[in-house]
Amino acid sequence: MRKKLVVGNWKMNMTISETKDFLAQIKDKIDKKNDVAFCVPTISLESAILSLKDIDIGIGVQNIHEKDSGAYTGETAAKMVKDAGATYALVGHSERRQYFGETCEWVNLKAIQAIKHDLIPIICVGETETEREQGITSELIKKQIKIAFLNIPNEDAIKCVIAYEPVWAIGTGKTATTEQAEEVCKLIRETIEELYGLETAQKIRILYGGSVNASNAKELFSMENIDGGLVGGASLSLDFINITNA
Ligand code: PEP
Repeated sequence: MRKKLVVGNWKMNMTISETKDFLAQIKDKIDKKNDVAFCVPTISLESAILSLKDIDIGIGVQNIHEKDSGAYTGETAAKMVKDAGATYALVGHSERRQYFGETCEWVNLKAIQAIKHDLIPIICVGETETEREQGITSELIKKQIKIAFLNIPNEDAIKCVIAYEPVWAIGTGKTATTEQAEEVCKLIRETIEELYGLETAQKIRILYGGSVNASNAKELFSMENIDGGLVGGASLSLDFINITNA
């Protein structure tokens, strides 16, 4: 049985003081029978970790660099993130692909780097509205998954988390229907089976993300191939408690 995982992606929101206040309000109310995590702005990483010490809620970042260290002004290495106490790193979020030009190959290098430093990469994939209309969703998702997992051996792949996030559903209030979300998550699991075999496919966790809220979470998370959610906007409010309880 795969344990459900709900991850809040705060994007570029919340100052350090707001982080402390928010986590203090929310930490005891979150249902810990599922895995829960927040991917916070890197500057708030340490205070988020301190705010949640002794509480079983994971903390992660929203991006890492693909190199160990060096002259990469403004970037953050996976090793630094790990040393600060983080557990997760988002890689390949569609906003990174769209605004910062991250390619599938780049996402793969970042996933490898996360694994190297013992962070769990949450590998994001998803199609745009135009790609869905063109009928190329399946082909595109398979390609994104196959490239993201290049050179990642089975024992590491099994620890990764995948987030299916249709770009047209992120921050738009337009959630994919449960059927649409399940169909793509199932396809992702089949692609993982093709790459690594049935055992890994059955163990790897696949999340849905895209306008998840307290009203739609329960139905989405009840689908066979959806193991939880990656939640943007609704993770910034107390509504997130109801999503984790869903
Ligand atoms: C996200 O940021 O990954 C996301 C899914 O955002 P939202 O829930 O706001 O659509």
